[in-house]
Amino acid sequence: MLMARERIISSESTGHEEEQVNYALRPRLLDEVVGQRQVIEQLKIALEAAKGRGEAMEHVLLDGPPGLGKTTLAHVIANEMGTNVRVTSGPAIGKQSDLMTVLTNLEPGEILFIDEIHRLAAAVEEFLYPAMEDFRVDYTLEGGLGGRTINFKLNQFTMIGATTRAGLLTAALRDRFGIHFHLDFYKPEELKTILTRSAKMLGVAADDDALELMADRSRGTPRVANRLLRRARDYAQVRSDGHLTAKAAEQALEILQIDTLGLDDLDRSYLRTLIGMYECGPVGVEALAATMGQERDTLEDVVEPYLLQIGFVLRTRQGRCASRAACKHMKMAYKQPQAEAEDVAGLFNDDNQP
Ligand code: ADP
Repeated sequence: MLMARERIISSESTGHEEEQVNYALRPRLLDEVVGQRQVIEQLKIALEAAKGRGEAMEHVLLDGPPGLGKTTLAHVIANEMGTNVRVTSGPAIGKQSDLMTVLTNLEPGEILFIDEIHRLAAAVEEFLYPAMEDFRVDYTLEGGLGGRTINFKLNQFTMIGATTRAGLLTAALRDRFGIHFHLDFYKPEELKTILTRSAKMLGVAADDDALELMADRSRGTPRVANRLLRRARDYAQVRSDGHLTAKAAEQALEILQIDTLGLDDLDRSYLRTLIGMYECGPVGVEALAATMGQERDTLEDVVEPYLLQIGFVLRTRQGRCASRAACKHMKMAYKQPQAEAEDVAGLFNDDNQP
């Protein structure tokens, strides 16, 4: 079975070495960040205003599929504010005492980055509210009902929460972020700019059309683009003189079984299941995940967002449906899904073509 973490196009990070390369390729300042223009413009204003007041910036919520730059932006904000960022994640903070340790160690103005914030335990989340609002925590010492509550004053800090599922956040938590940005998939031109910079930093001699080809097949995701570049670089090094031509890039992608739209085995397996087994839907994501032997979260976080974006899949109240364009790409027969008319209306016109 192909696991999400092993996918070449997985938009999740696959390990330590990749983390190191990613770290090196990360833009450090706002002006180096490619794309996401609206987010960057609003961020510039918020940063400047906070700096002008000599205060920590408001808490920021970043949402969007993996690999689009949420962690990168947290570091960029820290660099721009001239401060440090402490990185943790929802699942890593199991208990109130874990969060207590993190919060009480924050220096004035520091940034606390919590990745996968939608996975915070409810008890921990409640503990976060006064910390975010008034920079204080009310900590109840062990001892049940009679336990003593201690009130701690915290240093002012900026919390940056990142999530792939803003919809799973409670309204109470969402409302405590002063700023909320949604990150979108990148355009091929933007990915090409990112690839050009990465190739330069990695010392890869690459032709323009090779970079264009990879930009087109990166599923709108910078992390995927950088990963494809590294694999294509290996290929060019082993099979030719190291110079990355379009032909070498094409061959590298072929070996990786990445198709003309940038879809890989896992995407195609999803589409084959949805179109073949479930006759284009509608079908619930649980059933799809069970049939494919995958985790539901994997499908929702790393497979579906891009397929939805290119109009191959539609979410309806009755479940997922495949579009005509998806069937055409997979060379499979299209069957009109029997979902509610308004939900599937978009599937029948050809505007759905990627
Ligand atoms: P996320 O936290 O959303 O999963 P990351 O911030 O870890 O994504 O981004 C993954 C990699 O993609 C980074 O290491 C960086 O090299 C690259 N990247 C992301 N966004 C951008 C961008 N806007 N400009 C240039 N490179 C980017």
